[in-house]
Amino acid sequence: MSTIAENIAKVGVRIREAAQASQRDFSSVGLLAVSKTKPAEAIREAHAAGLRDFGENYLQEALDKQALLADLPLTWHFIGPIQSNKTRPIAEHFAWVHSVDRLKVAERLSAQRPAELAPLNICLQVNVSGEASKSGCQPEELAALAQAVTQLPNLRLRGLMTIPAPTDDVAKQRAAFARLRALRDALNLDLDTLSMGMSHDLEAAIAEGASWVRIGTALFGERDYGKV
Ligand SMILES: *Cc1c(COP(=O)(O)O)cnc(C)c1O
Repeated sequence: MSTIAENIAKVGVRIREAAQASQRDFSSVGLLAVSKTKPAEAIREAHAAGLRDFGENYLQEALDKQALLADLPLTWHFIGPIQSNKTRPIAEHFAWVHSVDRLKVAERLSAQRPAELAPLNICLQVNVSGEASKSGCQPEELAALAQAVTQLPNLRLRGLMTIPAPTDDVAKQRAAFARLRALRDALNLDLDTLSMGMSHDLEAAIAEGASWVRIGTALFGERDYGKV
């Protein structure tokens, strides 16, 4: 077995055990493989080992890999910061965007989504850790943003995403994820998605209801940003 296939098996065990510990169905937790900085070949290996959903942060890098992997039936998720002048290729080349944090970006994505494609699945990114993290809308801004996004014709608002301030304290991890879940529930919009949990805190996220865990390092190894 390749290292990536071994890592996928290990992450699968972690997800399964975490789901079991909170009486959740294993299949209710999606594994989104975060492939930023990793070569197309690594994605090909992960696909061969059974993964279908891949998350990328950097637009040009993602488009290059999509072109190399066009023969595979992959579902692409954009999870990085979005510049409003770069929305068109995102609207054209992804099935999901997890990192929408302002209305201007949502409006452009909706306007630029090609008519022949299904609506773009959207998560609103929320900053649940206050000043410790810079991206994401503030919790106070969320209700108005969510209401406005539900009105956009070519988007389908699915739920919320967060990247909490990193901590090894499991109680703090859980508190941040519980906060995202409470914000989602308070919107009362019938949203089925919580995109939360990364390599170091996926157990806490699953305990609090994660529907996508976004896993990079635990699948593909440490990232070398020198190679980007
Ligand atoms: C890089 C990244 C991840 C993956 O993080 P790991 O700690 O490597 O699992 C998840 N989500 C987002 C938004 C990222 O940028």
